[in-house]
Amino acid sequence: MTDFFTRDNEKLSQFNEWLKNAHNIVVTSHQNPDGDAFGSTLGLFCFLKKFNFKSLTFISPTDYADFIAWMPHAESVIVYNQENKTLADGLINDADLVFCLDYSSVSRMKDMKEAVLASKSKKIVIDHHEQPERFGDLYYWDQHASSASELVYNLIVDLGYKDKIDLDTATCIYTGLLTDTGSFRFPSTSPGVHRIAAELLEIGVNPSEINRNLFDNNPFTKLQFLGYVLSKKMTHLPDYRTCILTVSEKELKKYDSKTGDTEGIVNYGLQIEGVVMSAIFIEKEGMIKISFRSIHDFSVADIARDYFEGGGHKNAAGGKSYLSLEQTVEKFVNLLPFYKKTLALQPK
Ligand code: 5GP
Ligand code: MN
Repeated sequence: MTDFFTRDNEKLSQFNEWLKNAHNIVVTSHQNPDGDAFGSTLGLFCFLKKFNFKSLTFISPTDYADFIAWMPHAESVIVYNQENKTLADGLINDADLVFCLDYSSVSRMKDMKEAVLASKSKKIVIDHHEQPERFGDLYYWDQHASSASELVYNLIVDLGYKDKIDLDTATCIYTGLLTDTGSFRFPSTSPGVHRIAAELLEIGVNPSEINRNLFDNNPFTKLQFLGYVLSKKMTHLPDYRTCILTVSEKELKKYDSKTGDTEGIVNYGLQIEGVVMSAIFIEKEGMIKISFRSIHDFSVADIARDYFEGGGHKNAAGGKSYLSLEQTVEKFVNLLPFYKKTLALQPK
């Protein structure tokens, strides 16, 4: 594996050296950024603003959802689309450092990957996903971390800059911690996570406001869409302790669904008694995007990696398929008998 510098002093000072000599910096998150992708990248962005680099920009491989658009400095994010491609390619090409946050798989940069890989910049990967790919020059990586935002916090502390964490940085990091731990519910919610959250509250972070901004700011149609999917498009397979949800492109259009409106629906499957695995299949942009969730030791990252060109974490993973929606679901259902024993073995 490439160099990891999580808590390695020698590599940390190497990184510090690069930072001191850098003029142009680009920070990037993965495509379809979620709360942690934005939380970690904007958190780092707000922190780096304190250093007055010649240029500091955040480039996102794709557009981002409304539920994170309120975050500090979200308005300055450059989306890597046709309109911005020349500008973004130039920034990436001229960068001394490119930060890659909350992803360590090249494909998650989508069309931005060519520019990043071709750039002579040093690439710093800050991530917590399993099986990172080797495109970076330095990795601040821990697959046991709750979130990339937790790692950004620890990195800032390791660099000795804790006093530079202002309210904007703290708000971003708190948002990432909150969203990637499922509101402090998932097993990744360590004592360390709560300690960081407490420090952030002391800086002035307002948890009720962040929660309202994230979760209570939905268009009416989004809730109608959720109601429709739960009542008409969810299948419970108790013999396999599995729940399947499907959404077609037509349905997305009918409910005027926007980027991010389907985010989180997959988690409802896990609210059913006895369910160990939930999967949602969404038809969009000429493919089927799949999200998997599970509990206990059952790894959906393996299923995503082995059968659906994806990856992620043990209990939260994603992938894709170029079969039809029906064929993709059929492929998944046909796999279930192979996992029946392991699914049955999981505690309640
Ligand atoms: P989500 O289901 O929320 O899109 O993603 C769940 C987790 O799996 C996230 O941590 C995400 O980074 C990862 N993930 C989602 N889709 C993909 C994919 O296509 N490839 C890889 N390698 N990871 C993915
Ligand atoms: Mn994350």
